Amino acid sequence: MVQQASTERDILSTIQDQNDLVEALRSGVDGRVLTEDDAEYDEARTPYFPVRIGKPVAVVRPKHADDVATVVEAARRKSLPLFVRSGAHHAAAHSTGDGLLIDLRSLNNLDIDVAGQTAWIGTGLTAQEVAWALAPHGLAVGFGDTGSVGIGGLTLGGGIGFLSRLHGMTIDNVLAAEIVTADGRVHTIDHEHEPDLFWAIRGGGGNYGVVTKFRYRLASVPQVYGGPLILPATPVTISRLAQACAEADDALTVIPTVMPAPPMPFLPAEIHGQMVIMAVVCYAGDVEQAEDALRPLREITTPVVDMVQPMPYATLMDEELPFRGHPMAIRNMFLDHIDESVGATILEGLDRSDSWLPLVHFRVMGGAISRVAPDATAYAHRKSPIMVFVARPLEDDELAARQWTEELATALYQGDAGAYVNFFGPHDADRLEAAYPGETLARLRRIKATYDPTNLFRNNVNITPA
Ligand SMILES: Cc1cc2nc3c(=O)[nH]c(=O)nc-3n(C[C@H](O)[C@H](O)[C@H](O)COP(=O)(O)OP(=O)(O)OC[C@H]3O[C@@H](n4cnc5c(N)ncnc54)[C@H](O)[C@@H]3O)c2cc1C
Repeated sequence: MVQQASTERDILSTIQDQNDLVEALRSGVDGRVLTEDDAEYDEARTPYFPVRIGKPVAVVRPKHADDVATVVEAARRKSLPLFVRSGAHHAAAHSTGDGLLIDLRSLNNLDIDVAGQTAWIGTGLTAQEVAWALAPHGLAVGFGDTGSVGIGGLTLGGGIGFLSRLHGMTIDNVLAAEIVTADGRVHTIDHEHEPDLFWAIRGGGGNYGVVTKFRYRLASVPQVYGGPLILPATPVTISRLAQACAEADDALTVIPTVMPAPPMPFLPAEIHGQMVIMAVVCYAGDVEQAEDALRPLREITTPVVDMVQPMPYATLMDEELPFRGHPMAIRNMFLDHIDESVGATILEGLDRSDSWLPLVHFRVMGGAISRVAPDATAYAHRKSPIMVFVARPLEDDELAARQWTEELATALYQGDAGAYVNFFGPHDADRLEAAYPGETLARLRRIKATYDPTNLFRNNVNITPA
């Protein structure tokens, strides 16, 4: 279903200079238009990882798809670079720049069909906001492990989180989307309507237009057993944890980060700075089975902290690791296995770093993620068993940070050349084929040529038109 561009946008034809543009946008959209004179401007142009902070002519907060279309047309007709921000969490910080910035936060509608277990959800919301809105109904959409991440960027890149092994990646639960394409038209797409475009936005990022809302399938998740499980990090504990995750029921997901224990209030002061596995656990299956499912994790070794307990799924979205404001050198990849020797490589690498926050993060995938065909969506790494990233703050020393992450990633490499686009960092522009291998990239480029032949949507992990 495609709607024509609104005639209101003819107002753009009178624009002569920057002031005219701002005035035209202010009279042409229902949402707010911020300039550097507005108090909220600085926050709106600053990403979570401020690798760069752009100076947009205007930040527009659209209220609906027609507002988005007005801004898209303005950018196209005035040849202005266009930036799109949902939660602003991508580590490459494409959500800011010099040009026009669409800040989606006012697209915050949530229209839930409780009986049908579906919802239309605006792309200005965060994972935490959605989780708490759905919690009273015992329903959930699986996003990632962090509540402040925007559902826009996360969904468009794939979405791997606590519920993916049980219910599939976020894109596997997208039933439809509303998207404004480069020509300013508003499309409602799904498996039947413009299936190529629908395929491309499930993994292909923001290359095809601005998605204003997604329709998701909701999972029934009345309660989970979840929370932090902190273990001392040794080659044996790392390897046993990876093994326990691989052997676990699909309902159990563990998201571990090997790192020096940060000074967080729930961690005993005496372990601050010591190498630990900071794991966050989520068991979303049958309550009766929970203790049995968790036992293999608890038997790995005596935990430093075990706060795994019954809770609403949304509570898992409330805790955050201390990354905000610290741009990261990050390298992500897939591994086949994590045995003791890999555990030793991880710890040696972390020991070699002089950073205050070096880390190795891994996720055992499998389950429902791997039961989807690699060509069913633009996320092609369905069969890769473990996703890993190595990271440390760039502010330590940019060159040293990059060298360290690349060296450790090279030491860990096991032959899978793939990578996950949502965990690309600021230095991954040349890794497009790692994210989109072979025919996936070729198809994405053909679809790009159809919907965005001039590459208006290029400030992202960019797929150029075929
Ligand atoms: C602390 C932290 C934890 C994370 N945990 C996970 C995790 O558990 N699982 C996981 O899969 N990922 C995770 N990520 C990665 C995350 O999915 C990506 O960084 C994602 O791009 C963030 O989305 P965003 O909307 O917050 O970011 P943004 O930076 O706003 O968006 C990234 C890019 O996507 C495009 N975009 C965003 N929204 C739209 C839209 N509606 N229409 C068109 N284009 C759009 C734009 O090009 C934008 O530059 C995490 C990131 C961080 C920082």
